[in-house]
Amino acid sequence: MSVEHPGLIFGPVRSGRLGASLGLDLLSAKICSFDCLYCEVGATRALTTKRKPYVPADKLLGELAYWLFHDHPEFEVVTLGGMGEPTLNSDMGRIIEGVRELVPGVPVAVLTNSSLVSDPQVRAELCQADILLPSMDALVPLEFNAVNRPAGGVSMVDIRRGLLQLRQEFTGRMYLEVLVLAGVNDSEENLERLAAFCAELGPDRVDVTTMTRPGAYPQALPAPPATLEHFRQRLCPLTASQVEVPEKARHFAPGLDNSTGDGLHTMSMRVLDSLARRPQTLSGLASALGLPEEPLRNLLDELLRRGLVQATELQGDIFYFCGRN
Ligand code: SF4
Repeated sequence: MSVEHPGLIFGPVRSGRLGASLGLDLLSAKICSFDCLYCEVGATRALTTKRKPYVPADKLLGELAYWLFHDHPEFEVVTLGGMGEPTLNSDMGRIIEGVRELVPGVPVAVLTNSSLVSDPQVRAELCQADILLPSMDALVPLEFNAVNRPAGGVSMVDIRRGLLQLRQEFTGRMYLEVLVLAGVNDSEENLERLAAFCAELGPDRVDVTTMTRPGAYPQALPAPPATLEHFRQRLCPLTASQVEVPEKARHFAPGLDNSTGDGLHTMSMRVLDSLARRPQTLSGLASALGLPEEPLRNLLDELLRRGLVQATELQGDIFYFCGRN
């Protein structure tokens, strides 16, 4: 059983921000223009700003077509993301077009760290989506470099300008994410600069978050609730009512057949595939995969025993993961 190359289609997973989201991985490996302290995928192996068809459109769309043909869980949105920065994939525009043909009527969302938005071609491709979820964690240069650890040539000032330009060009919904780490990008100066930026940008929503899973580097620590509340009050005074509380997880996956070896194998593969993407608690994994906790707990114990999965503790919660460096 290998987890080196998880499939390109993952989920659907329950996302607090989007609902039931079917994920597409546009990188297939940890390729990113940032090496964020908090990255739940692990340290960036290939730090780059070079756009390439890391996963060619034909390959990804072929996998999606196969998945749609063989599997029919419900989902509400298709989200382009993956193990790195999706805008690095130069086939992104073709992928969005292809998704629209394969699943007409389902909104397409793109997660982005915003690093390439100063490129007009990237903005044109992003404008094909329905929902954009760009990140902007810091507008103080020292804090930006400390939290996002960008590739050479990435400019915080260009990102700020590019996002404002994108807001003018994009007609869909934009949800800005600000992730705050304790002692890294939680200064009052950063908050004031972000507040001025949000006022100028006018996103449909601002999501202030912190890490909820183990990050790539040990110095990454979650911001305490009081800091998050302080940032929320300032950045998104309306957000308290706008924040989407995840609904009780629905059963998105086909029924678990635990009585056969095939059923167990399928479940193992889904668990390993999901954990290769990000560390998760037992309850988080159960909710994301739509599986009951008890058999999942037994399976995780078995995978731990075989060394296929590892576990770590963060603030009293046990997180399971695999395939991280
Ligand atoms: S959190 Fe996102 S932007 Fe940061 S290193 Fe990980 S994949 Fe890249």
